Amino acid sequence: MDMIHITMPDGAIREVPLGTTAAEIAQQISPRLGKEALVARVSPIQGNAAPVASADAEKSPDAAPEARLTTATNGEGFLVDLRAPIDQDVKLSILTPKDPEAIQVLRHSAAHLLAAAVLELFPNVKLGIGPPIDTGFFYDFVRAEPFTPEDLERIEKKMRELAAQDIPNERKMMPKPEAIELYRKWDQGFKCELVEERAIEPMVSFYTTGKFIDFCRGPHIPSTGRIRAFKLMSVAGAYWKGQEGNPQMQRIYGACFYTQQELDAYLHRLEEAKRRDHRRLGQELDLFSVQEEAGPGLIFWHPKGGLVRKIMEDWLRDELLRRSYDLVYTPHIMRLELWKTSGHANFYRENMFGPVEVEKDDYQLKPMNCPGHILIYKSRLRSYRELPVRLAELGTVYRYERSGVLHGLLRVRGFTQDDAHIFCMPEQIESEIEACIDFAFAVMKTFGFSDYVVELSDWDAKHPENYAGSPEDWARSTGALQTTLTRLNIPFKHMEGEAAFYGPKIDVKLIDAIGRPWQLTTVQFDFNLPGRFGLEYVGEDGNRHQPLMVHRALWGSVERFFGILIEHYAGAFPVWLAPVQVEVLPLSEKFAEYGKKVGAALKDAGFRAHLDDRNEKLQAKIRDAQMLKIPYMLIVGGKEAEAGTVSVRQQSKGDLGPRPLAEFLSDLRKQVDAREL
Ligand SMILES: [Zn+2]
Ligand SMILES: [Zn+2]
Repeated sequence: MDMIHITMPDGAIREVPLGTTAAEIAQQISPRLGKEALVARVSPIQGNAAPVASADAEKSPDAAPEARLTTATNGEGFLVDLRAPIDQDVKLSILTPKDPEAIQVLRHSAAHLLAAAVLELFPNVKLGIGPPIDTGFFYDFVRAEPFTPEDLERIEKKMRELAAQDIPNERKMMPKPEAIELYRKWDQGFKCELVEERAIEPMVSFYTTGKFIDFCRGPHIPSTGRIRAFKLMSVAGAYWKGQEGNPQMQRIYGACFYTQQELDAYLHRLEEAKRRDHRRLGQELDLFSVQEEAGPGLIFWHPKGGLVRKIMEDWLRDELLRRSYDLVYTPHIMRLELWKTSGHANFYRENMFGPVEVEKDDYQLKPMNCPGHILIYKSRLRSYRELPVRLAELGTVYRYERSGVLHGLLRVRGFTQDDAHIFCMPEQIESEIEACIDFAFAVMKTFGFSDYVVELSDWDAKHPENYAGSPEDWARSTGALQTTLTRLNIPFKHMEGEAAFYGPKIDVKLIDAIGRPWQLTTVQFDFNLPGRFGLEYVGEDGNRHQPLMVHRALWGSVERFFGILIEHYAGAFPVWLAPVQVEVLPLSEKFAEYGKKVGAALKDAGFRAHLDDRNEKLQAKIRDAQMLKIPYMLIVGGKEAEAGTVSVRQQSKGDLGPRPLAEFLSDLRKQVDAREL
């Protein structure tokens, strides 16, 4: 019998008969591994042919997400079915649910299970594609009637039935013409199209799950029995191949994990995200609105939201001055010519509002603050003695975003950046970068974030022709970013080739209370604009030099950061930020006078207090204040009036008992001054 050699990840070599499968090897290693295995990764040790179950269609039929399955193994071979016979010497890894790639294979198999179930219940649907996604899978169908929530329930039930039958996912190869004929007879036009376009080899790979048959490169898990922790989530519209104008399909989304526990945790996270949705909370807490009458993506800050914004901005402006920035203001609209000089009218055109004509001259609503700050820098000749020049502005900009991508405060058309531009000499960049990073971390600490991810985006050194700036510029600036992060002991990811054409940058993503990352701070070099605008300074040598320029934003924008704060705190802002810090609740109308006195004392001490003197039951008043997420409630009745005390109730801790008013005031002072979280 012909034997082949299988090299395992630990280096051990097993000699097995030609045609042995990964499933058999897993079983030999241990019955437990045999049970846990989902899929295998092989890489041929020598020779040229793909070893097993050769990929017939290099381009996956299920488009990009599925293609990821096989390309993710980059350089380390590719994924194959456990049941595929191995026909040459290979390195073999057997993947279990611990492996993220194996979970994607499970999810892809769940997509097939969904299609199989839909076909049982609605035999006339036309099939699109069904790739795995980060948390599950989807499949696209064409059906005259929309799928209802009841349909989804039935489909999910059918999926469970089919899963329980542990139906094998079998791979079949057939000649391309036969495959097209099969789909033609079955009247599956989209699938015909896929086979025509994507199958480039004479034999085409199919997978069957019971009666369901799909043009698919795979791999798949051996059978449906392992698909247990899933849930159909929603139906959305999608265009065939994602192209507007193509036939409309119904996309059924499902969540899928290996264990029920993981699925439950995911569903809980979704619930949490819904509970924290800043658009809903923005309305409930009366913080902001978007008005159809005014236009999409434009934010109205209501009094309470405006108050939080004022507190945020006060903090920021104080910090800016303390950190030796200069505060400036620049116009919202400037000549289009200026944007031609900066290059934005060319490479940024698609993100800009159209020009406005005034006295036969075109003006442009600003999408960025940089040119304005540059004009201030250029307004007189600068000496090396005044560098670095740090110009900061809470600068409102307008960008054209498609209405489809607008999202509450997070993706808008008009917003205020906490923008700054630093003009400095080469020898100053390290200390400037360090100061920017220190500022960014002060923002995170002050506003209550402790987890973050830092990315350093570098150029692709093999293609300097695609970038502005000299190799020395890039080396020096990237070096400064890198050295600073290392010296400050901040772990970061190096993203090669990810930089914009005009310079390297650092991005800080913070992680919120429920583990979601948010892009926040950017510190970005610019080797383009100083040259375009002919920026100069007179050096110590008396000669003119070009300064280095850095753009940096810490919050990104006030709107976006406010949205993130609302979600992070689920609307319950820390007391120093809360629009109303204390709600005073008289027990009944009889004690309204004392209530007023307490309210006045709070206001005199500089706190934001509100007196609820409605003729309502105390319980109702407490409930309302709780709904508004006001940090403190002070309940005042006869006993309190007599003793000069207040009964304190805290938003998250509940009843704290009676305290002398003066003591409450001084405690609150301490909390607010320390910006306690
Ligand atoms: Zn497939
Ligand atoms: Zn800028």
